Amino acid sequence: MFGLADCNNFYVSCERVFNPSLNGIPVVVLSNNDGCVISRSNEAKDIGIKMGEPIFKIRDLVKKENVKVFSSNFALYGDMSWRVMERLRLLFPGIEVYSIDEAFLNLNGVKSSELKNMAHNATTVIKRETGIPVSIGVSKTKTLSKIAAKLCKKYPALNNSCVMIEKRDISKVLQKFPIEDIWGIGRQYSKMLQSNNIDTAWKFIQCNPDWVKSKMSIVGLKTYKELNGEPSFDFEDNTQDKKQICTSRSFANDLYEHEEIIMAVAKFAASCAQKLRKQRGVASRAVVFVLTNPFKDNTPRDYRSIVINFENATDSTFDIVRMCTKAVTSVLKSGYGYKKAGVILSEISIKGETPGNLFCDKDLLAEGRLMKTLDEINAKYGRETLYSASQGVYKMRYNMNMLSPRFTTIWDDIIKVKI
Ligand SMILES: [Mg+2]
Repeated sequence: MFGLADCNNFYVSCERVFNPSLNGIPVVVLSNNDGCVISRSNEAKDIGIKMGEPIFKIRDLVKKENVKVFSSNFALYGDMSWRVMERLRLLFPGIEVYSIDEAFLNLNGVKSSELKNMAHNATTVIKRETGIPVSIGVSKTKTLSKIAAKLCKKYPALNNSCVMIEKRDISKVLQKFPIEDIWGIGRQYSKMLQSNNIDTAWKFIQCNPDWVKSKMSIVGLKTYKELNGEPSFDFEDNTQDKKQICTSRSFANDLYEHEEIIMAVAKFAASCAQKLRKQRGVASRAVVFVLTNPFKDNTPRDYRSIVINFENATDSTFDIVRMCTKAVTSVLKSGYGYKKAGVILSEISIKGETPGNLFCDKDLLAEGRLMKTLDEINAKYGRETLYSASQGVYKMRYNMNMLSPRFTTIWDDIIKVKI
């Protein structure tokens, strides 16, 4: 049996935990750079604000309905996510973190008669201990548990938990469930299916499996089987480490100054290195990429990605920053406005389990101690208290004009109570 725990309107819910005056009113959170709506309270949904809508298009509505608008505060959301996931870990036999606000639950060994109580209890505990409302859907497969979790949001009477295991219940739900809302069926496949008059999950599972496979490949067939109650996507225990670590951003403005881009890349490389050490990994390869604004006509366009193979697998911020900045420096062209850059680390292995290089003349132990100290200081005094000089003193210019305090990760931002 599988479950899916999904935080309701997650970013908005995080904002509400520390600012209860936001309860009951329309609230939205914007993407990086204050571009589009990426999280909406139910009240915001009710007045017709769509997911992904650019904020400039709804200025009037925001004003008229007095919608509260926030820049995304990932320091806060990341920490709140961690709190929710840790609670889930205690409450269920196993969890697979799927995204910042979702986790699959391994319910093997739990008696059917206990599922409803277990799910309901978890939503209550998480709300009480973290302040975040969570919906939990339970069913025979991952895909069906996703559907069950969606039902919770649609029907408040379910009280945030839905166990859907009786065949009769499943059929009833699938008959009404729109094809485009099924997990794993993208826009292209939805269109294709709709053009074949298949517009619900129910009609989809009536299809011939060979036809499904021929039109939608093996992954489509797996979704088909899952909807028929046959588990085809395994539970992945992701205490496992990441095979790739990526940090990338779009800039608020197109950057023409090479120095600014190089500093940004240094910053991304440092952030990747820190994530790498967190999972006790070392990387042997990095890819650095830069691109110009693809939406701007009449300006020169460029996309560059450079692969760097490290001589020795490393987790050192200084090594990684140095190699990535050198690589990006070699490809930047003058007169081009760069809109986005990023760093991806790969070929990751566990530190201490990779063969060393006999000819490496670096004092690796000293480097290791230095990195440990760097991480400890930054953990204690806040991100980037210490950083590589190549990152510059330049703060990346994002538009973040409506940012709430980082209530849980920065001492100065901690909530103050008058008594
Ligand atoms: Mg969610």
